[in-house]
Amino acid sequence: MKAINVAIDGYSSCGKSTLAKNLAKLRGFIYIDTGAMYRAVTLFAMRQGLFSDIGLDESQLVSLLRDVTITFARKGDFVRTMLNGEDVEDEIRSLEVSNHVSQVSKIKAVRSKLKLLQQEMAKSGGVVMDGRDIGSAVLPDAELKIFMTADPEVRAKRRFDELVAKGSGDISMEDVKANLEKRDHIDTHRTEDPLIQVDDARVLDNTNLSRNEQLSLVNSWVESIVSRAR
Ligand code: C5P
Repeated sequence: MKAINVAIDGYSSCGKSTLAKNLAKLRGFIYIDTGAMYRAVTLFAMRQGLFSDIGLDESQLVSLLRDVTITFARKGDFVRTMLNGEDVEDEIRSLEVSNHVSQVSKIKAVRSKLKLLQQEMAKSGGVVMDGRDIGSAVLPDAELKIFMTADPEVRAKRRFDELVAKGSGDISMEDVKANLEKRDHIDTHRTEDPLIQVDDARVLDNTNLSRNEQLSLVNSWVESIVSRAR
């Protein structure tokens, strides 16, 4: 029997990737962070100088897309995002990349390129993929779809603590909150595959749930799907 695919979508900084990683480890699935792929394309555009005061040069980015290769390198328990063979895992998590990424992720040609790659990665099953359009566009046939949400204050605090722990000095809670609000707005209002809650998704509000509580709840969902298929 082919292993199931799990699609996790939701707002920024809801803890999607933490849950996805933990679930993948527990069930022996492969974790794929699609946000990292959009962040890597954004870093590429920043390095090419495609952002200016008047915004992003979209047509130039589209014409350069063929020069962008994104892969994942697995190092023990960790997964590193590679841009044209270079490990950019740390760089793509900066607030600067976060502040630019939604401009890049709304471009149709970028989404088409990354969607194809993501579908290829999931074709054999056994994948936990997190993002914004996984249940709606990338893996509409995923056996389990989850829509994650959490209180905006709690999300901002979690992301702020994470950035501080990583040594990002000069940031404030206000900057982080503003970034989350702006990204959520653009991600839910764009034309191309916006973030939506699909009808067959299970909603997981983790405002008051520990990591272990979330994991055991989601694992029980996986278990019931797998045992029904046996
Ligand atoms: O998940 P993460 O916060 O790292 O995603 C960064 C950005 O990438 C999101 O704000 C969104 O603009 C974009 N994204 C997307 N579709 C996905 C995953 C991420 O548009 N499947």
